[in-house]
Amino acid sequence: MITRSSALLQRPGREEAQPLSIQSRWQTQLARAIRDPRELCRRLGLDEAWWVGAERGHALFEVRVPEAYLARIRPGDPSDPLLRQVLPLAEEELVAPGYVADPLAEAEHAPAPGLIHKYAGRVLLIASPACAVNCRYCFRRHFPYEENAPSRAQWEASLEHLREDASIHEAILSGGDPLAASDRQLAWLVERLDAVPHLRRLRIHTRLPVVIPERIDDALLGWLSASRLQKVMVLHINHAHEIDEAVIAACRRLKDAGVTLLNQSVLLREVNDSVEALAALSERLFEAGILPYYLHVLDPVAGAAHFDVPDDEARELVAGLREVLPGFLMPRLVREIPGEASKTPL
Ligand SMILES: *Cc1c(COP(=O)(O)O)cnc(C)c1O
Ligand code: SF4
Repeated sequence: MITRSSALLQRPGREEAQPLSIQSRWQTQLARAIRDPRELCRRLGLDEAWWVGAERGHALFEVRVPEAYLARIRPGDPSDPLLRQVLPLAEEELVAPGYVADPLAEAEHAPAPGLIHKYAGRVLLIASPACAVNCRYCFRRHFPYEENAPSRAQWEASLEHLREDASIHEAILSGGDPLAASDRQLAWLVERLDAVPHLRRLRIHTRLPVVIPERIDDALLGWLSASRLQKVMVLHINHAHEIDEAVIAACRRLKDAGVTLLNQSVLLREVNDSVEALAALSERLFEAGILPYYLHVLDPVAGAAHFDVPDDEARELVAGLREVLPGFLMPRLVREIPGEASKTPL
């Protein structure tokens, strides 16, 4: 806290001189993320055999990997668990029965653009259509983001829905990745949410602090700390290697700002489908001050069938995990079933 305020004290003169379009460091990192499948292969020492598949997968869902995440991948190892999450493959073209564009039928639950109200007491707001990383297994890989990237005027419709329904106690900022939105936009939105009397909690579902830890900067901590709401951040981390010192430092700043940190993972073939990998993930999460929340089985989104782990195997893994971890480090194994009133435990 002391370092933050002294940093702020040094700044006023310089800040006034800056044009409004100046990018913060995280925005520069985001702008410079790798978006070319061949470059991704080259940078990681993957030979030409991988290029064709990478380009075919990229044509379906574009590649996006920030440098800070790339740095945690072992070069020359096509089976690296972090690489598997971001490298496009030709397998994404496979048509598998039951794998569809909108597996969660979210399109049916949008009372206002950018607002999804499926569960009692909480609503999900699509605060940004973009992500800092494109995860190949993402259930929103076919999401019509253009229709769900509301302007401020459209936000008013979502806010009206929130204000009119006193049973809503929690606003969940989601996306895409909500933290890909600018701090000015987020500060505006959170101020409006603060003013809704029956709201108690602000929840943020994000992968940005993991893939670009610099996202947790003074500007973000400013609007977050200013909110009267109780704050929960649900991170998305699938493997222990994703948590480096920079991620731990970002988590520490969030905790200092009073944010409760939880994690959701997706169970993914050849990424984290072993008791060892899942146990190491839980242990590492706790070192970073994060508690495991959900372990999702894969949503059957077209293009991701090669990541699937069957339910029986998932249950066995979790039973094995229970033998090696304390109860508070156990994630809840769940599936999302369209039409159900909550995530469904397996
Ligand atoms: C997952 C989800 C939530 C949050 O569910 P929790 O069980 O509270 O984490 C809320 N709304 C929607 C639409 C969701 O998909
Ligand atoms: S960060 Fe989340 S929403 Fe974005 S691509 Fe990855 S899984 Fe999907």
